[in-house]
Amino acid sequence: MTESIKFLLDENKLPRAWYNINADMPVPPAPVLHPATKEPVTPDFLSVLFPMSLIMQEVSTERWIEIPEPVREVYKLWRPTPLFRARRLEKALDTPAHIYYKYEGVSPVGSHKPNTAVAQAFYNKEAGTQALTTETGAGQWGSALAMACRFFDLDLEVYMVKVSYHQKPYRRIVMQTYGAQVFASPTDRTEYGRSVLAQDPDSPGSLGIAISEAVEAAATSGGKKKYSLGSVLNHVLTHQTVIGLEALEQMEMAGEYPDVIIGCVGGGSNFAGFAYPFLHQNLTNGKQTRIIAVEPSSCPTLTRGKYAFDYGDTAEMAPIVKMHTLGHTFVPPAIHAGGLRYHGMAPTVSALVAEGYIEARAVGQLDTFAGAVQFARAEGIIPAPESSHAVRVAIDEALRCKETGERKVIVFNLSGHGHFDMAAYEAYFRNELADYEYPAEEIAAAMAHLPSVEM
Ligand SMILES: *Cc1c(COP(=O)(O)O)cnc(C)c1O
Repeated sequence: MTESIKFLLDENKLPRAWYNINADMPVPPAPVLHPATKEPVTPDFLSVLFPMSLIMQEVSTERWIEIPEPVREVYKLWRPTPLFRARRLEKALDTPAHIYYKYEGVSPVGSHKPNTAVAQAFYNKEAGTQALTTETGAGQWGSALAMACRFFDLDLEVYMVKVSYHQKPYRRIVMQTYGAQVFASPTDRTEYGRSVLAQDPDSPGSLGIAISEAVEAAATSGGKKKYSLGSVLNHVLTHQTVIGLEALEQMEMAGEYPDVIIGCVGGGSNFAGFAYPFLHQNLTNGKQTRIIAVEPSSCPTLTRGKYAFDYGDTAEMAPIVKMHTLGHTFVPPAIHAGGLRYHGMAPTVSALVAEGYIEARAVGQLDTFAGAVQFARAEGIIPAPESSHAVRVAIDEALRCKETGERKVIVFNLSGHGHFDMAAYEAYFRNELADYEYPAEEIAAAMAHLPSVEM
């Protein structure tokens, strides 16, 4: 038995193609509907927002999509990322389980998000786009896209959720360092932002509102600006599969195969990017790995939401898709895992949960931070609050193994580090954090606003 801690791939092992789950989906995709007509959308409608190459990836059923060489060249700045065996955590938990984690926090901005940001910037530059617009919640996505736009010489406008803009000023400065323009959303720059401010001048903002502003800015630019989304869409999930494809090879180096795969879910991109290459093995190669998606109990999209057609954004400008949703008008509590506060979910993740191919679990904020601190004290890395949801469930699974004596192989994605989230850790140490109750009444109210769709 090797005593290795890190499993490292050479640069020449960086994957040459992304994996597209559409090729192996056990259920046919639901149509994507126009927000106004509620008829299936045409590529023309989407081409206002996205370059045609990304629209084609969105609907592609090719299993492998070649990673363009300029994208691989940028990936090489930090990829392949390490896979660690968490031997010190195993010892601290006194578990017979083997725990591994894939660490995406080694990217320059500290999360998995550049994996798609770099690809999207590349395809937009190739298509002649002058500037991108986007929203950001906690600021990780904006930082990733700001870096990617700089590498490919594109301008960037970021609509940042106001509560995060104030809670996390350093991320704004990161974006500005790369040359992006950052606005606290709701802003007075868009019609939709002005309408929100008119109703509630103190609105803390939400990801849904910020998406609507960024979409409006692109849609009214006469083709100069395109919109870029950091999660949820299929092309985003596909770009992220570079994580799981590397992890498959690294597990082979370790001489083990996962019994359990775990990732946290906001819109589903780091989870899918990590888990889908393993799910591919379940679907086509007889493997039986359990795959668990973890979300916060304050924004319980998969575990308490409805699997239904809903708008992707609050203003009802984005397409209607079939997904687990808490209602597009739902504004989740301002928990510190800002990246997990989206009302919806990637449609393929939802479909696979609905059909039982993926398990979903919700965990509370206090248990999550307790797990994060335990992980940091054992392994050294301070996890992002989002990633800590995966850490929590990995620890829970390992503790269950301790009870049963099973020696399971547990592998989770550590999607980012928490260096810009120390205020959240401070609040936890001061006992200032609460477990938000599942806001049943607010979600029920939001459910009344789901679009009625005849399908
Ligand atoms: C944004 C973010 C997430 C959540 O987004 P997904 O699209 O669900 O992956 C999780 N972890 C980190 C570190 C993030 O920055």
